Amino acid sequence: MNDGTSLSSISHSVPSAASSSMSSKSRFVPSSVSVNTPLVSVNTPYDSLVPRKPSYNVKQQICSFLRPLANSFIFDILNIMPQPNSYDCGVIAIANATELLFGNNPAKCVWDVSKMREHLIQCFQQQKINRFPILRERRIPFGHSVKNFVIEDIHCTCRMPEDHSKSMIECSLCKKWFHGACIGLEGLENYTDKKWFCSKCDCMLS
Ligand SMILES: [Zn+2]
Ligand SMILES: [Zn+2]
Repeated sequence: MNDGTSLSSISHSVPSAASSSMSSKSRFVPSSVSVNTPLVSVNTPYDSLVPRKPSYNVKQQICSFLRPLANSFIFDILNIMPQPNSYDCGVIAIANATELLFGNNPAKCVWDVSKMREHLIQCFQQQKINRFPILRERRIPFGHSVKNFVIEDIHCTCRMPEDHSKSMIECSLCKKWFHGACIGLEGLENYTDKKWFCSKCDCMLS
Protein backbone atom coordinates (compact mmCIF):
# COMPACT_ATOMS: atom_id res chain seq x y z
CA MET A 1 0.00 0.00 0.00
CA ASN A 2 1.70 3.17 -1.16
CA ASP A 3 -0.95 5.77 -0.54
CA GLY A 4 -0.39 7.96 2.47
CA THR A 5 -2.76 8.02 5.38
CA SER A 6 -4.24 11.37 6.31
CA LEU A 7 -2.80 12.58 9.61
CA SER A 8 -6.25 13.55 10.83
CA SER A 9 -7.48 9.94 10.49
CA ILE A 10 -4.62 8.64 12.59
CA SER A 11 -5.88 10.25 15.74
CA HIS A 12 -8.95 8.02 15.44
CA SER A 13 -7.25 4.82 14.46
CA VAL A 14 -4.15 4.97 16.63
CA PRO A 15 -5.63 4.24 20.06
CA SER A 16 -7.19 0.95 18.97
CA ALA A 17 -4.45 -0.31 16.68
CA ALA A 18 -1.18 1.17 17.70
CA SER A 19 -0.13 3.95 19.97
CA SER A 20 3.30 5.41 20.31
CA SER A 21 4.26 6.25 23.85
CA MET A 22 6.67 9.08 24.55
CA SER A 23 7.67 8.64 28.16
CA SER A 24 10.95 10.12 29.31
CA LYS A 25 12.68 6.74 29.26
CA SER A 26 11.03 4.73 26.50
CA ARG A 27 9.77 5.14 22.99
CA PHE A 28 7.69 2.16 22.13
CA VAL A 29 4.69 1.11 20.12
CA PRO A 30 2.28 -1.28 21.73
CA SER A 31 0.14 -3.19 19.28
CA SER A 32 -2.79 -4.74 21.00
CA VAL A 33 -4.44 -8.00 20.07
CA SER A 34 -7.67 -9.12 21.73
CA VAL A 35 -7.28 -6.63 24.53
CA ASN A 36 -10.51 -7.36 26.29
CA THR A 37 -11.06 -11.06 25.96
CA PRO A 38 -12.33 -12.53 29.23
CA LEU A 39 -9.18 -14.37 30.20
CA VAL A 40 -6.11 -12.84 28.76
CA SER A 41 -4.82 -9.95 26.74
CA VAL A 42 -1.88 -10.01 24.38
CA ASN A 43 0.21 -7.03 23.63
CA THR A 44 3.31 -6.52 21.56
CA PRO A 45 5.40 -3.54 22.50
CA TYR A 46 7.65 -2.62 19.58
CA ASP A 47 10.55 -0.91 21.30
CA SER A 48 13.73 0.02 19.47
CA LEU A 49 15.64 -0.59 22.68
CA VAL A 50 14.47 -4.21 22.95
CA PRO A 51 15.17 -7.05 23.44
CA ARG A 52 14.55 -6.50 27.09
CA LYS A 53 11.75 -6.97 29.55
CA PRO A 54 9.37 -4.02 29.73
CA SER A 55 9.88 -1.84 32.80
CA TYR A 56 7.00 -1.18 35.19
CA ASN A 57 6.77 2.25 33.64
CA VAL A 58 6.20 0.78 30.16
CA LYS A 59 3.69 -1.79 31.44
CA GLN A 60 1.83 0.90 33.37
CA GLN A 61 1.60 3.14 30.32
CA ILE A 62 0.36 0.34 28.08
CA CYS A 63 -2.30 -0.62 30.64
CA SER A 64 -3.30 2.99 31.20
CA PHE A 65 -4.48 3.43 27.65
CA LEU A 66 -5.61 -0.11 26.88
CA ARG A 67 -7.42 -0.64 30.22
CA PRO A 68 -7.42 -4.44 29.94
CA LEU A 69 -10.49 -6.12 31.39
CA ALA A 70 -8.66 -9.43 31.58
CA ASN A 71 -7.04 -10.52 34.81
CA SER A 72 -3.78 -11.37 33.08
CA PHE A 73 -1.90 -9.52 30.44
CA ILE A 74 0.78 -10.99 28.21
CA PHE A 75 3.50 -8.62 27.09
CA ASP A 76 4.82 -10.33 24.00
CA ILE A 77 8.06 -8.63 23.11
CA LEU A 78 8.91 -8.76 19.43
CA ASN A 79 12.45 -8.05 18.34
CA ILE A 80 12.67 -5.13 15.97
CA MET A 81 15.64 -3.30 14.52
CA PRO A 82 17.59 -1.79 17.43
CA GLN A 83 18.17 1.93 17.10
CA PRO A 84 21.71 2.71 15.96
CA ASN A 85 22.05 5.84 18.10
CA SER A 86 20.77 7.32 21.34
CA TYR A 87 18.43 9.97 19.92
CA ASP A 88 16.23 8.47 17.17
CA CYS A 89 13.96 6.39 19.40
CA GLY A 90 11.01 8.76 18.91
CA VAL A 91 11.14 8.82 15.14
CA ILE A 92 11.65 5.03 15.03
CA ALA A 93 8.60 4.58 17.28
CA ILE A 94 6.54 6.68 14.84
CA ALA A 95 7.94 4.65 11.91
CA ASN A 96 6.97 1.40 13.64
CA ALA A 97 3.48 2.76 14.40
CA THR A 98 3.13 3.78 10.75
CA GLU A 99 4.02 0.25 9.60
CA LEU A 100 1.28 -1.12 11.86
CA LEU A 101 -1.22 1.40 10.49
CA PHE A 102 -0.38 0.18 6.99
CA GLY A 103 -0.96 -3.40 8.12
CA ASN A 104 2.71 -4.37 7.94
CA ASN A 105 5.10 -6.02 10.35
CA PRO A 106 7.63 -3.50 11.74
CA ALA A 107 9.96 -6.38 12.64
CA LYS A 108 10.72 -6.75 8.92
CA CYS A 109 12.00 -3.20 8.51
CA VAL A 110 15.63 -2.21 8.42
CA TRP A 111 15.17 1.56 8.57
CA ASP A 112 17.19 4.05 6.58
CA VAL A 113 17.80 6.11 9.71
CA SER A 114 19.61 8.93 7.86
CA LYS A 115 16.38 9.80 5.99
CA MET A 116 13.78 9.29 8.70
CA ARG A 117 13.65 12.77 10.21
CA GLU A 118 13.42 14.42 6.80
CA HIS A 119 10.62 12.01 5.90
CA LEU A 120 8.72 12.85 9.09
CA ILE A 121 8.96 16.60 8.39
CA GLN A 122 7.59 15.99 4.89
CA CYS A 123 4.68 14.03 6.36
CA PHE A 124 3.82 16.95 8.63
CA GLN A 125 4.12 19.42 5.77
CA GLN A 126 1.86 17.31 3.55
CA GLN A 127 -0.53 16.44 6.39
CA LYS A 128 -0.21 12.86 5.28
CA ILE A 129 1.71 9.98 6.82
CA ASN A 130 3.65 7.74 4.46
CA ARG A 131 5.76 4.67 5.16
CA PHE A 132 9.24 5.54 6.35
CA PRO A 133 12.25 4.78 4.10
CA ILE A 134 13.87 1.40 4.59
CA LEU A 135 17.25 0.10 3.48
CA ARG A 136 15.81 -3.36 2.99
CA GLU A 137 13.31 -5.82 4.37
CA ARG A 138 14.45 -8.65 6.53
CA ARG A 139 13.54 -11.86 4.76
CA ILE A 140 12.99 -13.59 8.06
CA PRO A 141 12.03 -10.97 10.62
CA PHE A 142 13.02 -11.46 14.17
CA GLY A 143 9.97 -13.05 15.61
CA HIS A 144 8.45 -14.10 18.86
CA SER A 145 10.59 -15.76 21.42
CA VAL A 146 9.16 -17.72 24.33
CA LYS A 147 11.62 -16.15 26.72
CA ASN A 148 10.35 -12.72 25.73
CA PHE A 149 6.83 -13.33 27.04
CA VAL A 150 6.05 -11.52 30.25
CA ILE A 151 2.77 -12.33 31.97
CA GLU A 152 1.42 -9.81 34.46
CA ASP A 153 -1.61 -10.05 36.69
CA ILE A 154 -3.89 -7.05 36.32
CA HIS A 155 -5.51 -5.70 39.46
CA CYS A 156 -7.96 -3.23 40.89
CA THR A 157 -10.50 -0.92 39.29
CA CYS A 158 -7.60 0.92 37.65
CA ARG A 159 -6.66 -2.27 35.69
CA MET A 160 -2.94 -1.94 36.39
CA PRO A 161 -0.13 -4.40 37.02
CA GLU A 162 1.09 -4.65 40.59
CA ASP A 163 2.89 -1.57 41.84
CA HIS A 164 4.98 -2.54 44.86
CA SER A 165 5.02 1.04 46.11
CA LYS A 166 1.24 1.07 46.67
CA SER A 167 -0.53 -0.87 49.41
CA MET A 168 -3.27 -3.21 48.33
CA ILE A 169 -6.17 -5.03 49.96
CA GLU A 170 -7.71 -8.36 48.99
CA CYS A 171 -11.47 -8.81 48.73
CA SER A 172 -12.48 -11.51 51.22
CA LEU A 173 -14.95 -12.99 48.73
CA CYS A 174 -13.65 -12.75 45.13
CA LYS A 175 -9.98 -12.70 46.26
CA LYS A 176 -9.14 -9.88 43.86
CA TRP A 177 -6.67 -7.18 44.89
CA PHE A 178 -7.32 -3.43 44.99
CA HIS A 179 -5.19 -0.38 45.68
CA GLY A 180 -6.27 1.48 48.81
CA ALA A 181 -5.96 4.80 46.99
CA CYS A 182 -8.19 3.64 44.09
CA ILE A 183 -11.07 2.60 46.34
CA GLY A 184 -10.81 5.45 48.81
CA LEU A 185 -9.50 3.35 51.71
CA GLU A 186 -6.88 5.03 53.82
CA GLY A 187 -4.82 3.19 56.44
CA LEU A 188 -5.00 -0.33 55.00
CA GLU A 189 -2.96 -1.62 57.97
CA ASN A 190 -6.17 -1.27 60.02
CA TYR A 191 -7.85 -3.86 57.79
CA THR A 192 -5.39 -6.70 58.21
CA ASP A 193 -7.61 -8.63 60.62
CA LYS A 194 -10.94 -7.55 59.17
CA LYS A 195 -12.99 -8.85 56.30
CA TRP A 196 -13.32 -6.43 53.42
CA PHE A 197 -15.49 -6.78 50.31
CA CYS A 198 -15.07 -5.00 46.98
CA SER A 199 -18.07 -3.02 45.72
CA LYS A 200 -19.15 -5.82 43.36
CA CYS A 201 -19.13 -8.46 46.10
CA ASP A 202 -20.63 -6.01 48.57
CA CYS A 203 -23.59 -5.53 46.17
CA MET A 204 -24.04 -9.30 45.84
CA LEU A 205 -24.02 -9.78 49.60
CA SER A 206 -26.43 -7.00 50.44
ZN1 LIG B 1 -5.83 0.70 41.48
ZN1 LIG C 1 -14.81 -8.96 45.55
